[in-house]
Amino acid sequence: MSELIPVNEAEQRIRASLPPFGTEQVSIDQAAGRVLRQAVCAERDQPPFDRVMMDGVAIALGDGSRRVFTVRGRQLAGMRGQSLDDPSGCIEVTTGAVLPAGCDCVVPIEQCRRDGERVELVAAWQPQPRQFIHPQGSDCREGDELLAPGMRLRAPELAVLAANGMDRVEVARVPAVAIVATGDELAEVDQRPLAEGQIRRSNDRALAAALRGRGFDDVLLTRVPDDLAATTQVLSGLLASHQVLVLSGGVSVGQRDFVPEALRSLGVEQVLHRIAQRPGKPMWFGIGPQQQMVFALPGNPVSALVCALRYLLPALEQAIGLPVGDAGKAVLASPAAGSPMLTCFIPVRVHHDDSGRVLATPVPVPTSGDFSGLPHTDGVVELPPSGTPAAAGTLVSLYRW
Ligand code: AMP
Ligand code: MG
Repeated sequence: MSELIPVNEAEQRIRASLPPFGTEQVSIDQAAGRVLRQAVCAERDQPPFDRVMMDGVAIALGDGSRRVFTVRGRQLAGMRGQSLDDPSGCIEVTTGAVLPAGCDCVVPIEQCRRDGERVELVAAWQPQPRQFIHPQGSDCREGDELLAPGMRLRAPELAVLAANGMDRVEVARVPAVAIVATGDELAEVDQRPLAEGQIRRSNDRALAAALRGRGFDDVLLTRVPDDLAATTQVLSGLLASHQVLVLSGGVSVGQRDFVPEALRSLGVEQVLHRIAQRPGKPMWFGIGPQQQMVFALPGNPVSALVCALRYLLPALEQAIGLPVGDAGKAVLASPAAGSPMLTCFIPVRVHHDDSGRVLATPVPVPTSGDFSGLPHTDGVVELPPSGTPAAAGTLVSLYRW
């Protein structure tokens, strides 16, 4: 039997074999949540003109001693810039308007007493030079790089795209993912009654949710029986149509575990099999003839999810151009037992202490087949191999569901 591969090496081997998924142009209306694959520079100065930031009157301040002005015009938001030629006059302005030429101060409406066209400043108000004006270019200058490749397009990024005229944008292509559940014992979610020995297939739904939660929403769900010929036939078709295959089950060394053999016969090159971890030891990963990524995860539901969090999701995120980030971190709230030879992944509930530290309370499950308690957890922590339990207060890597 092959030697167990340490967790970090398994991660490195997967990261070293990522295929390029390419890019595509999408409309700004389809861009939210996607990963940007181009730089976006400022179309022009922002604000593009000296911008009035209060409703009120614009004046030429001079030495600041004048208290009474006559309204000479109106400058509303969206109007071309007007000008004020005479310091005894003022121009009515609204928020967002171009500052009229000849003006260098805005007095808010609340500080003006208006009588017809006569405006008098309230007694206590002393206007200051350039007050209530956003200067042209104070936000950014034309040509400044505002967005860089690899940024996830969230609300602030969408605002910047729109403000800079980016109606189309180049983003990472989202790979087509096929999720394949293996096992003769698997029944459909809606099958009733269930025969003795049958269980409903649940891994595929869980894996699809994990993928969709990270923006990988081109997901197909299917299943194969424990049969070498049938497995080979289905996987052959999926390799032709999908860039990523995620299998669950059939990857151990039992007499009905046909997945590695079927994949090898289809030219999928094994990159790793069996990792020094618990749960998730049987995991297999390989690269297909057209650089398809094949993640063959163990069938036990906790194992399948742990391997998805630790290997599948980070690899796909890196492949679409997101920066390779460190895992989240948390501090153990209570001791957790690991293993001298294996990296252990322990489900945890996460909360914050009074100083904002992320605390993880272990909620161990009895076995890797027992997943009913997972809904009350937030993810898993990673405990490196150790002969002694990890003490409360230990800093650990945290992978959230
Ligand atoms: P295997 O890795 O195929 O040996 O399966 C290990 C355990 O996981 C067995 O008890 C299977 O019944 C169970 N299992 C396999 N696939 C699924 C699935 N899609 N949903 C739920 N349990 C599964
Ligand atoms: Mg099986």
